[in-house]
Amino acid sequence: MEIIDKQIIDLPATAKVDIRKLDFSEIEEWIVNMKLPKFRAKQIYSWLWEKSATNFDLMTNLSFELRDELQKHFEILPIQVDKYQKSSDGTIKTRFILHDGNKIESVLIPVPDDNRYTVCVSTQVGCSLSCKFCATGLMKRVRNLSAAEIVDQVVLVNKQCREHFGHPLTNIVYMGMGEPLLNYQATLKSIEHITSPSGLGMSPKRITISTAGISKMIKKLADDGVKCNLALSLHAADDMKRNEIMPINENNNLEALMEALQYFYRHTKNRISFEYVALHGVNLSMSDAKNLAKHCRKFPVKVNIIEYNTVEGLPFGRAAMEETDAFGLALRNLDVTVTIRRSRGKDIDAACGQLANKE
Ligand code: SAH
Repeated sequence: MEIIDKQIIDLPATAKVDIRKLDFSEIEEWIVNMKLPKFRAKQIYSWLWEKSATNFDLMTNLSFELRDELQKHFEILPIQVDKYQKSSDGTIKTRFILHDGNKIESVLIPVPDDNRYTVCVSTQVGCSLSCKFCATGLMKRVRNLSAAEIVDQVVLVNKQCREHFGHPLTNIVYMGMGEPLLNYQATLKSIEHITSPSGLGMSPKRITISTAGISKMIKKLADDGVKCNLALSLHAADDMKRNEIMPINENNNLEALMEALQYFYRHTKNRISFEYVALHGVNLSMSDAKNLAKHCRKFPVKVNIIEYNTVEGLPFGRAAMEETDAFGLALRNLDVTVTIRRSRGKDIDAACGQLANKE
């Protein structure tokens, strides 16, 4: 008993709760405890998640006294723009600084001709997966982002998108630093806030989660009834090759992954795609095409072939356009739906797998 008392006494007087870690009912409970009318909770929640307020002073429909109480008990820990770089193709990479000094990156990819403005968001500081071809994989995983830190990227890049292109964001891809399914709770919570009418109100159909492939969590996405699209970073179509370039495959082999994706499709009917990075001399043979085509018959799926962005110190090379095109054609001849995506933002290291907080 004594020890418990001491612990309480020892708590710093300034220990505040990150208010964006509370859900609506918890804010409401606090309001009721303060003997205030319940609708105050709604107002606070709306300031936090709909209007993205970064401090309590902005909450002008609350009394000064209430704002003061909020200030005493809680804190808001927004991310801040550290710097940004614009590529010659319009792509903008932004580095954000988090409240604890850690840094993450997001990328805005504008395609004005298609009226498409996509943000690529990070879910972790660093990554624990060490895919052999990826720059982020060279960093250690430092920590997970909170749901609020993921939503903040969307809010701030949306603002940037309006400023630079006079258009709001249209799409969100969870393809920045980190593995979203290893930060499952925050990823799902962030999607909830982004799509909820009491949040940013964007459509889940315009959101894609990209995963290196954790079969158990893919099934959980289905069980939790997510409404967004799913991309599997496949990159190799047989276990031997995939083990070599993506160690995560050792415990999540292709059979388990395909079974999980079938389950996901059966339960959600959401769109599934395979990402397939074109690695020179590694995964683009005709037998690779045949193996890949086999996996495409299990559920409706589209293959996106991505150009490889070389990473200093890593032994992989970009495939020549002819090598990539031949592979794409072989897949088409096997009735696979394929798109070849040319890389964006290369001159500023903003392309897939190049996010590594370089100066
Ligand atoms: N962890 C998630 C999301 C982050 S990576 C995932 O693995 O899907 C986003 C995509 O970029 C993945 O398909 C990843 O395999 C790919 N990628 C990684 N490094 C790359 C590189 N150097 N060039 C091109 N794509 C890369």
